[in-house]
Parts: sequence; C-alpha cells; structure tokens
Amino acid sequence: MLQSKLFTKTRKEAPVDEVAKNARLLIRAGFVDKLQAGVYTYLPLGLRVLKKIENIIREEMDNVGGQEIFMPSLQPKENWLATGRWDTMDDLYKVSDTSGRENALGPTHEEVVVPLVKQFVSSYRDLPFSAYQFQNKFRMELRAKSGILRGREFMMKDMYSFHTNEADMMAYYEKMKGVYARVFERAGICAKTFLTFASGGSFSKYSHEFQTITPAGEDTIYICDKCCLAVNKEIIEEQKNSCPQCGGRNLREETSVEVGNIFELKTKYSAPFNLSYKDEEGKDQTVIMGCYGIGLGRMLGTVVEVLGDDKGLVWPESIAPFAVHLVELGGAYDATVRAEAEKIYNEFTSADVEVLWDDRDLRAGEKFAESDLIGIPLRVVVSAKTLTSGKFEIKDRATGEVSMVDHSELFKIRHSKF
Ligand code: ATP
Ligand code: MG
Repeated sequence: MLQSKLFTKTRKEAPVDEVAKNARLLIRAGFVDKLQAGVYTYLPLGLRVLKKIENIIREEMDNVGGQEIFMPSLQPKENWLATGRWDTMDDLYKVSDTSGRENALGPTHEEVVVPLVKQFVSSYRDLPFSAYQFQNKFRMELRAKSGILRGREFMMKDMYSFHTNEADMMAYYEKMKGVYARVFERAGICAKTFLTFASGGSFSKYSHEFQTITPAGEDTIYICDKCCLAVNKEIIEEQKNSCPQCGGRNLREETSVEVGNIFELKTKYSAPFNLSYKDEEGKDQTVIMGCYGIGLGRMLGTVVEVLGDDKGLVWPESIAPFAVHLVELGGAYDATVRAEAEKIYNEFTSADVEVLWDDRDLRAGEKFAESDLIGIPLRVVVSAKTLTSGKFEIKDRATGEVSMVDHSELFKIRHSKF
C-alpha cells in the first residue's frame, strides 16, 4: 500500500485525556480513534492488526473443530430473565424501543447460543460440538481508563462447547488450555503470559485465565516459576498462599491483564433453558457446557503495552499491519529513486510480502520517526545513496539494529529473520 493514499495521519501528540500507553501510542500512530470513553474506531492500520489476530484465533478454533457462527447483539429480555442475569448483571446495557420492548446489548452470548443449540440437539448422537464467533460485546464498565484494554464496546471471540458428560467437557477444556497458549505464542506475548487459576464461580472450583504481565493490567497474580503457572489474587487465600500444582510458597507477585478466560459452565446455562438430550437408554440428560473467551482488542492492546517502546509501536510479524516499511527518500524529486523504490515494492509484493511504501514528500527525519512510531518489523530505505552504493539500509524495529545489505541479501534477510 502507498502511504500517500492512507487517509489517516500520525499525530505528534497523544490526546491529553488518554492516559493508557496502548491508546496513546495507537492513536498517535493512527491505528485507532476514540469516539468516547471505552469506545474506539479501528482505522485501516489498526484493523489490519485486529484481523490478523482474528485469523490466528480462527485457525486455532477451527483446529479443535470449532464451527464459526455470528449471533446478534440485540437480545430479548426474556432470555436474560430466564438465566436471572437481567437483574443480577450490573454491567448489562438495556435498551428499549418505542413499543416498550426491552433488549439487552449482549455482554456475552450464553443467552443466545443455548436456545439456539436447543433447536438442533435432541440425542447423544448430536454431541459433542463447539461453536464460536467474533462479535462486539457491550459492557457498562465503570472505569474505562485503560484504553482498548477495557472497552465498553469491544470485540471478543467467544466459543461454547456442548457435551454429554463432564469428562468429555473436561477433556476439551484441557485441550483448550494448549490452544490458548498457542494463540498467545503466535501473537508474540507467550513469554509474559501465564495460565492462572481463578475463581470458578458457583459451578466449579476454578476457572482458568491467561494473564499477561504488564503494569497496565488491573489484576494481581502470584506466579510459581517452578510450575510456570499463576494464581489470581482473588483466590490466593483460598489456595493458602501456595501453588495449586506443587504446593510451593515461593510465589512472585505481578500486575497483569487477563487476555483470555476459560470456564467449565457445566449445566449453569443449559439447565435454565432445559437444553437436554436423550442418552443411550432414552433418558433425558442435561447438556454439559464449557465456554472460552478472548478479547481481541485487549490482546492487541496488551501487545502494545508489552512490546511498545519510547519510539512507538513494535509489532511481531505475525500480527504486524505490514511486514516491510519501504521508506523512499527523495523520490519526489528523483525519478531514479522512485523507480528503484517501485521495483523493490513490486518484488516484495509478488513474493506475497505486505509492504507499506512511504512515497510521501517529507524529510528523512520525519519519515524515520513515523516509521518507528508505526512499528512495522523491517524498515528498508531506498535513496540516492542506494543507487550509487548498491546497498539498502535496513532496520530491525524490535532490536534497532541497522545494517547495509545488497539486493540479494535484502530478500534473504527478510526470510531468515521473520
Ligand atoms: P475483566 O475481569 O478484565 O473485566 P472479565 O473476566 O469480565 O474481564 P470475561 O467475561 O471473562 O471478562 O471475558 C472474556 C475475555 O474478554 C477476557 O478474558 C478479556 O480478554 C476480554 N474482555 C473482557 N472485558 C473486556 C473489556 N471491557 N474490554 C476489552 N476486552 C474485554
Ligand atoms: Mg474473565
């Protein structure tokens, strides 16, 4: 893509009312825009990152047999009365129309997915399966000061699994722990992300969260380095201040953000809707469920918090908006520079490498500062010097390492490094 065609621009300063690092950087770099507290627009660069995260998650959910669906946000009050959550969920947005009909704006989708699935499940032969979606959730969050980490409207992947018995659900649940670990590994935050024991609500002892260490988080966890897992502060007392796996008390306290959460729901939502199946003896049994959430914007914001530096954003290639930032210097005045930049652009593009080509007429310093702010993994400079020396200056955004390479090395380096 040509940077001159991008309708968004970077900004010198972050908005004064934005305190979170993730939002300050993302707004300055032109990835998101704030409409109001906790409500953000994804701009072309930001949406490219969000879609890459979405695709990673989609691949991993499809690998465990998840079937993608898309459920509505506007959800009838009756469904929420059935589970009791119309009256108990503090952060539920309620809307009514002129006829007086009331709806919830979905903060989660059990109240939709369970009645939906009920139409298709009658026998043990119809189970197990899982369905997931990417859908905006609405929650009346009291504090929305963490940028895109805590939205009032935010994108979530929510998956629901349906089973004949607890053992089957637990086997799937265990598998999901590995699937989630892979998602966070692919997005470049696994080194700081810990499987965390958290309160399970009334139906199971624990749920499991995936918590990423960052000062921007709102949670406190206690990490057992021996077992490489953690306990949320909310249940640490119940755990007698020890690791649930080895019993060790050598725990390290950290501030973290919850990027994902998996729950054994068992019959919590299937029972109120009477979602049941006939077992092999023809007896009615309640369906057993699990659910599995990941906040996409929260994940994106967490990557920014963890990897971003004083110069700007730093993207791992797996989710970067582009793989290469081709910075042309002087091309507006020098047709040979422009032609060389175009040649490199076309070569990368034909090799399926996504390139943002800065073809604008700006000073080198400005272009470099902006390139650092946007955070594309590899910067390649084409200038008059390139033409005389035959060498391209490249910079690895994450390490800051700069080197001069010739044309053949340029392509080799990209492949070996990323
Ligand atoms: P928190 O405790 O941080 O409010 P939660 O436990 O209420 O989150 P869940 O209901 O478990 O959240 O939602 C599943 C996932 O959705 C979370 O693990 C998180 O990644 C994401 N998420 C939850 N609330 C928000 C929010 N307000 N903005 C962005 N992402 C969110
Ligand atoms: Mg949670």
